[in-house]
Parts: sequence; structure tokens; C-alpha cells
Amino acid sequence: MIKQTAGRNQLGDFAPKFAELNDDVLFGDIWNRNELSPKLRSILTVTVLVSKGLVDSSFQYHMQNAKNNGVTKTEMAEILTHVAFYAGWPNAWAAFRAAVEVYKDDAGVDGGMFGLGAPNDAYAQYFTGNSYLKPLTNPQETIFLANVTFEPGCRNNWHIHHAKSGGGQILLCTDGRGWYQEWGKEAQELHPGDVVYIPGGVKHWHGAAKNSWFSHVAFEAPGENCTNEWLEPVDDGQYGRLF
Ligand code: MN
Repeated sequence: MIKQTAGRNQLGDFAPKFAELNDDVLFGDIWNRNELSPKLRSILTVTVLVSKGLVDSSFQYHMQNAKNNGVTKTEMAEILTHVAFYAGWPNAWAAFRAAVEVYKDDAGVDGGMFGLGAPNDAYAQYFTGNSYLKPLTNPQETIFLANVTFEPGCRNNWHIHHAKSGGGQILLCTDGRGWYQEWGKEAQELHPGDVVYIPGGVKHWHGAAKNSWFSHVAFEAPGENCTNEWLEPVDDGQYGRLF
């Protein structure tokens, strides 16, 4: 839920009605409508502002907001390159200056302390977005540990780790910022150092925040007759509401 106070902060005394329309209608109502994702609203807003040549401080805000809403560095570069042909070259140049500033601390592809590994092709069908897998142990020798890295916006489908007894999964969060959610509960934000125990039989998903890479080491807890059941993808609208 987007909450905006810029109108009242800057114009509450001078133009209270304008402030109210800005904070309560534009940001309070329009930006929160479910019919378009916050990411798409950000792309539209940035595109329109660039085409009008409006790259002032409010543009800086919308550039930052686009990043927060999950527009990656690669996507923003592509958006501005595309828009340049329609909105004008100098306008794109000005917008790129703001983009470079906002995205300058973007780490990019990075598996964190255990490394990125290879594209997680074997499980790609159960993920939204790109993930990477780096095996850390040999399952022929011992319990299998792997570092899983999710690009911004990437998450796995709802799934269940089944077991006749025991079982489940343990996640050790190592890098970036992500989310874990059990069916019927609020999503919980994950940071390096967080440990998640997912009991057997619990429907859940895990993945990155929309504006951050995320890595966790994952392994199956010991149990009897352990199997995985993959279910439906996490709904775009529901995921889009997480920051
Ligand atoms: Mn899991």
C-alpha cells in the first residue's frame, strides 16, 4: 500500500486541496488500484515524464520509485533507449543522468558468499524469473546443500515438501533481500542471517524482493519418504504488493 505525504508536506498550507488530491487521490487511490501493477505504473510515469522533458526532482523520485517497484537496471536502460526515439534524444540523455544516479549502487548479478553457480534450468518451469543453483556438497557423500540465487522479482511457485514423517526444508539466508510466505499467512521479509524452517506438508513459496537479488542455502530436513509437490505460480498482483 503506497502512502504519500509529499503534497501535504510541501503544499499543505499554500494549496490544501491540491495536497489532498496529490496524496489521497493520485497516490492513495490511483497508484494503489489493482488493475495495473505498481511496476507498470512506474514505467508509464517515467515514460510520460521523459517525453515531456520533466526531469526535475519529482523525476528523481519516480526513477527511485521505479527501482523500488522492481524495474531492473537492464530494463530501465532498455526503456530509456526505446523512449529516446519517440521522446527525443536530449530528453533521454537527461533521464539517463537520473537513472545512473539511482541505479549506481545496484550490485547486479551476484550469488553472494557462496557464488552464483549455473542457471537453474532443471527447475525453471517452477520459477517465475531467473534463478541460479550452486551445489555446495555432493549428495552421494552427505546431505545435499545448495546455494539458490534469485534475480530481482524471481520466486518459486507455491510448493509442498512432503514426508511421511519429519522432512521439510531449511533455508539459511546469505545475501540480498527476499520473502517467504506460508499459505494463508502474511509474507515475511528475509535478510542475511535469517533462518527459515519449513515443516513438511506446509504450502509455501520463497524468492527475491522485486528490487533485490536474494540468495539462500537450502537443504531438505531429514525425513521419511521425502518428495516435492510443485503447485501454481505466486499471483503477480499479490507479489507486486510486497515491497
Ligand atoms: Mn521450499
